[in-house]
Amino acid sequence: MIILDGKNLSAKIKDEVKADASSYKKTPLLAVILVGEDEASKIYINNKRKACEYVGMSFLLIHFNDGTSEDKIVKKIKSLNKDESINGIIVQLPLPKQYNKDRLLNTISPEKDVDGLGNYSQARLLSGNPNFVPCTALGILEIFDYYKINLEGKNVCVVGRSNLVGKPTMLMCLKRNATCTICHSKTKNLSDYTKNADILIVCTGKKHLIDESMIKKDAIIIDVGITKEDGVLYGDVNPNVDNKCSYKTPVPGGVGPMTVCMLLKNTMIAYKRQNGIKDEE
Ligand code: NAP
Repeated sequence: MIILDGKNLSAKIKDEVKADASSYKKTPLLAVILVGEDEASKIYINNKRKACEYVGMSFLLIHFNDGTSEDKIVKKIKSLNKDESINGIIVQLPLPKQYNKDRLLNTISPEKDVDGLGNYSQARLLSGNPNFVPCTALGILEIFDYYKINLEGKNVCVVGRSNLVGKPTMLMCLKRNATCTICHSKTKNLSDYTKNADILIVCTGKKHLIDESMIKKDAIIIDVGITKEDGVLYGDVNPNVDNKCSYKTPVPGGVGPMTVCMLLKNTMIAYKRQNGIKDEE
C-alpha cells in the first residue's frame, strides 16, 4: 500500500505559492471571520494564519463575540467586500447555532469567496464551470494529480454529502469523467456501494466507519474524516484496510494539510483575478 502523503505535498505546494506571492508588489490578504469561542475553530484559524505567514500573505482575523447581531456581521462582510486590499474572505464554520450560516456565506462577494461555499460558487460547480472550488475537494484533486491517479471511467464512491466536502468532491470527480455514487447516513447496505469503488472517498466524521470487508481489493482510499478522542485523531477508515487497498491517505497527514494549502491557492487565484493577472493555474 502506498501512502498518499498530503503533508509533504502541501509543503511543496506552499513553497510554490510562496514563490508566486513574492513575485508581486502588493501582498495578498485573507480575511477570516470568527464568531464565538469554538476551540477547534481557533486551532484551525491558527493553522491558516501560520500558513499565510509562511507564504508571505497577510492575514486579518475579525473576531465577533457570540451574541453580536447578525446584521453587524453582515455589515462588516459588506465593507470587506468593498475593501480593495482584501482578496479573500471566509467565515469560519461552525457558527453558533443562532446565526444564519447561508446569509453570512452569501454576503461574501463571489470574487472573494475563497472557500467556495456561497450559492454562486456552488452553482458554478454544479454547472461544471467552477468559480472557487471548496478547499478539501481541491486538495483531494491535487493528491490525485500528484500521484497520477486518473479518474476517467473509474467508479468513485463518496460517503458523505455535505456542501463543504462530499458534494463538491463528487462533482469534481464527475468533471474528471469518473462514474460517481454518493452515499449518506440513510444509505441502505453501504458496503454494496463501497465495495464497488475503485476510489473510495469517505467524509463522514464517523471513526472507522469503513473496514477491510467494505472495500474492493486494490481500492484507492481517501480518508477525509477526523474524530478526536483523548487527544488522538482518527479517520473514518479502519487501519485494517492497509493490506487490501493500493493507496491511502493517512489521518493525520493526508487530506487535512492539503485543505489549508488550497485556501492559500484560492486566495492567490482571487488576488490575480482582482488585479487582472492572467495565468491562474
Ligand atoms: P457533515 O456536514 O457532518 O457531513 C457528514 C456526512 O456524512 C453527511 O452527509 C452524513 O449523512 C454522512 N454520514 C454520517 N454518518 C454516516 C454513516 N453512518 N454512513 C454513511 N454516511 C454517514 O460533515 P463535513 O463537514 O462534511 O465533514 C466530514 C468529516 O470530514 C468530519 O470529520 C470533518 O471534521 C472532516 N473534515 C476534514 C477536513 C480535512 O481537511 N481533512 C475538512 C473538512 C472536514 P446525512 O447527510 O444523511 O446526515
